[in-house]
Formats: sequence, C-alpha cells, structure tokens
Amino acid sequence: MPDKTTFRLRNTLGGRVEPFQPKSADEVRMYTCGLTVYARGHIGNFRTFVAQDILRRYLGFKGYRVLQAMNFTDVDDKTIRGANEAGKPLRDYTTRYIEEFFDDADALAIERAEHYPRATDPEYVEAMIRLVERLLENGIAYEAGGSIYFRVTDFPGYGQLSGAAASDRLAGARVDSDEYDKEDAQDFVLWKGPRPGEPVWEAPFGPGRPGWHLECSAMGLELLGSGFDLHCGGVDLVFPHHENEIAQSEAATGETFVRHWFHCEHLLVDGRKMSKSLGNQFTVRELLDEGFAPAAIRHLLASVHYRQQLNFTKAGLRQAEVAIGRVDEFLRRSDEAASGTGAAAPAEAAAALVRFEEALDDDLNTSKALAEVFIALKEGNRALHSSGGAAEAAGWAATIRRMNSVFGSFEMSSGRGAAGDAEEPPELVALIRERQEARERRDFARADEIRDGLAARGILLEDSSSGTIWRRRED
Ligand code: AMP
Ligand code: ZN
Repeated sequence: MPDKTTFRLRNTLGGRVEPFQPKSADEVRMYTCGLTVYARGHIGNFRTFVAQDILRRYLGFKGYRVLQAMNFTDVDDKTIRGANEAGKPLRDYTTRYIEEFFDDADALAIERAEHYPRATDPEYVEAMIRLVERLLENGIAYEAGGSIYFRVTDFPGYGQLSGAAASDRLAGARVDSDEYDKEDAQDFVLWKGPRPGEPVWEAPFGPGRPGWHLECSAMGLELLGSGFDLHCGGVDLVFPHHENEIAQSEAATGETFVRHWFHCEHLLVDGRKMSKSLGNQFTVRELLDEGFAPAAIRHLLASVHYRQQLNFTKAGLRQAEVAIGRVDEFLRRSDEAASGTGAAAPAEAAAALVRFEEALDDDLNTSKALAEVFIALKEGNRALHSSGGAAEAAGWAATIRRMNSVFGSFEMSSGRGAAGDAEEPPELVALIRERQEARERRDFARADEIRDGLAARGILLEDSSSGTIWRRRED
C-alpha cells in the first residue's frame, strides 16, 4: 500500500506545497464547486473537473476513502436570467444542463462524487437560512434595503486566502452594481431581497434568495461538516468566492472552515481564458461530434500540471489521440501475446511505479508522472518485440494499468458497444449509419435528431476516430 504521508500538495491558503494531512487517517472529505447550470459546461470547466478527478483518484490510490460533494449552482443571476428568457421554471431550465454535465463527465470517465447537491434543494436552502440567522445573531451580518450583507471589516481574517489588497477587493466588490444599499463597498451579499422576475424563499429575516457564496458554504458544511479537508475550484474562484466562503463560514461556526484549498489554472484559447462570455468555448459534445475520442480530451486536459495554464488547440488534441492510441495498442497486443504466459514485472517496472508516485506526491505533477507511463510503454514494446518477452511485456502492461487507475485515459472505451458489435440491435446500426450519412451531407439537424432520439431511450453515442461507439446510460 502506498505511503499516505509522502503526498505533498500546494495549499492556496498560505501558498506553500505542504504535506496533505486530512483530519482522519483514512478518509478525505472534499468539496468541489460545480457548474453554474445556465449552459452546457465547456472543456475549460472540465479541465478543472478532470484535475479534481485525478486528485480524487490519487487519494484513492494512496488508500484513502473519499467523500466528495460537488454542487450545482442552480440559482444565481445567470440561471435566473436564462430561465426567464426561456420562459421556464428555474428548476426545469437548469435540469437540462445538469443532465448534459453528467453525459460529458461520464464520457470523460470522471468518477462520480458521493453527493451532487443543488443549491435550490429545500434542505440546503434551509441550511443557508440558518447560516444567515447565525451571522445576524453574531452581529456580523446586517440588513439594508431588504437584503442581508456580511460586514467584511468585522472579520479580521479577511484576505487570508487571496491575499488581495484592499484596493483589489474594492474593485471586485463593485462588480455587482445593484448592491447599492450596503454600508461598505467590500461587503458582500448573503441574501438578496426580492426583485421582479426572481424566485423568492421565505425566511425569518425577510423573503429573498441566497447569494452564490452562501450556497457553497451551506452545502459544504451540511454535507461534510466544519473543518473538512479539501475545497477545490478553478483559480477564478479564489477571490471573491472562496474568500467569502471562509469569512461567512468561520464567522458563523467559530471554527476553521477548510484545511486545504486546491485551485486549478485555466484552460486558454489563443491566450485567453476559455469562457462562455468570450464565446471561445468548446464543449465535450462538440469535440466528440467532430470525431475526437473522449480519451484524447481527457488526456490533453490531464497532461499539463494543474498549476500551469494550458492553451487548447485541436492539434494538441490530435497529438493526444496518437499517444492514447499507442498505449491502448500496446495493452491489447501484450494481452494477446501473454495469454497463457502470465505476467512477470521486471524490477525496472517497480522502479517506474515508484517514480510515478514520487511525481504525483510532488504537488500532483501529472506531466512528470505521464512521462513514466511512456517509459513503461517503450520498455513494454521492447519486451513485446523480443523473443520470449511476452511475460515481461505483460508485467509492463500491468504497471501501466496501475498508473491508469489515476489517469483513467487509457482503455477508456472498453466495455462499450462499438458500431458493428454482434449483439447490437440492427435498428441501432441503421440509425447510427443514417446519422453518419446526415453528418456527411452536413445535415446536422437530422444527425442531432437521431442522437437525441437515442439519448431519450438511454443510448448514448460517442464519436471517436475509429467510428461511433454507443453505450447504455447507467442510471
Ligand atoms: P462555473 O460554471 O463558472 O461556476 O465554473 C465551474 C468550474 O469551472 C469552476 O471551478 C471554475 O473555476 C472552472 N472554470 C471556469 N472556466 C475555466 C477555464 N477556462 N479553465 C479552467 N477552469 C475553469
Ligand atoms: Zn462554490
């Protein structure tokens, strides 16, 4: 069993790479800020989600049990605006994007969290209301113009996470220009008073709806308890979102909110952050529709250290596809060659695994760890091509599979149907073929209609360089 104590991870709080020490010796409680569900998530979002998935899988590799909660932000300015424009009730409107999130997350082989709270679930709204009540009792929250605000100057630790200078905080705080009733520009809203066209919940301190920061504090505390181990998100969440979460949670409980903060750098396109507002986003589905393999997307997102920015290009995706293909091909051929021989991992394979673990122990250095996968591949291929080397090759294959328990990008399409499978219903084959023809004549409306029709029957299609594969939805 790997040594848990050697894992070092950068903590945004304090800014140092330090030993990762959860409260309990064998369990990690982890909260990840999830998608704001007003649009399908883009692969920038999924860069952060894949980084968190690798962190989760590595904690598993180390022998921890992981208890993870990932929320959906289903009430905020953007979701409310979207629902109003679509003329739909808020929950109906956001449900679609939650389902699409699961389709994309499954396609990328992201492990399921234990909890997926939605901010509007009644039990969490109640928890939010209780949190505001405690802050009002403590005198650190105040009412103004029908909304409830947090008085930042009364919380001495404010700025501990972001280290933001007061002037930056003011600039950030002014973004929400309709909060003009607050006492101080840097104060932030906990509960927004009713406004036309917005959903309203009743609360002892007046009707309204929760602010975004409050939502995550309440869901995190409710599901994981005060002082949980890990809180994760993209770097854009450090300030103000996570700074405010710390302030309101610690002011309410009097205890440390979170032990360790993990933040992933951005995915860029042409040097700019991938974001919906810039319109430079790609979704997982769009890339699959173009024929890229899900494994290539995952591999590309995981190949750069999480603290470095990553510039997305399709050329990078094609390279990732080639790399994945080489590994998958080796694993398949070594299985064939070794059937009946068994596996015999040489000492060098054990040494490669040690270096792999050392790389991940050093602040989750995925690029260095991946280099070990490719060293194992090279050695495995050498063994495979030498006479009598089948058992050694199988030993290297086993080493790669152990490494893949963290990366998850190899052999990703195994266990799914490929077009042409013997047990495949003929009607499905015909529909997949018809969709392919529709795409070739650029009739994307028909192609989407076929895909959506199958999805409604629980059959999901994914396009890869080797053709369309299908699988049944697992829920
Ligand atoms: P949002 O839907 O904006 O609440 O974001 C969900 C998650 O995706 C958060 O952890 C964000 O920090 C993260 N995120 C958003 N854009 C990017 C990007 N371009 N690169 C990496 N992570 C991102
Ligand atoms: Zn959050």
